[in-house]
Amino acid sequence: MPRSRDDSATEEMVYEGIPVKIVRKNVKNLRISVHSDCTVRLTIPKGCDPLDLLEKKRDWMLDKIENNRSLRERCESRSDRMLLFGKEFAMQLDADLKKGCHIDTETMTIHYASVADFGKFVKKALEERIEQRICMISSAMGVSDHVGNITIRKQRSRWASCSHVNNFNFNIRMATLPLKFFDYIIVHELAHIREKNHSPRFWAIVAKHCSNYLICRKHLKEYWIFCNTNVYWKALIE
Ligand SMILES: [Zn+2]
Repeated sequence: MPRSRDDSATEEMVYEGIPVKIVRKNVKNLRISVHSDCTVRLTIPKGCDPLDLLEKKRDWMLDKIENNRSLRERCESRSDRMLLFGKEFAMQLDADLKKGCHIDTETMTIHYASVADFGKFVKKALEERIEQRICMISSAMGVSDHVGNITIRKQRSRWASCSHVNNFNFNIRMATLPLKFFDYIIVHELAHIREKNHSPRFWAIVAKHCSNYLICRKHLKEYWIFCNTNVYWKALIE
């Protein structure tokens, strides 16, 4: 059994055809999560039988896996398209373009000179949109004087984060999002200027500025999976 430095031990098993990673740790509460690639992770106290928890959570788990699977299938069926700010485009590598990108809005086609040029184009478009939305939303929330530095990254597990001095990291994947979901992430991060946690007080601030935030949170997952399964997006985030 491989041991990591924090004295947790991991093992793997297959339950009803589903790969399950089991982490044994000094924890009080059992934890189970289903990942977007349809694998399951269990965190349990040492000496506890993982089968008990798997049996108990079986229906919930299979339901979640089925949802993720159909989500992946939907995303994969659009894998030859590029999704940019909620709109779908065809992609065309264009030898006539020496540099950069050009969007033909009539045919909804993005012509690009190289993958690197396309990456630069997406990053710049995202920077502009973030700046514009932060400017608007932070003043509506009364926090515009507290916004720190803004950086775009390729985080593997989160859309965005806010540091204790209110510097913000935003994920390049945000360039897939339609405005309503995009704005939810901005509202969420700006709310962390006031509350550095996810307490009821924090969610009350979010709800005040984004009333449909629960729906937004649900849909974000679909866009995340899209990025991970789409050939153009994979080139941008790898
Ligand atoms: Zn948060």
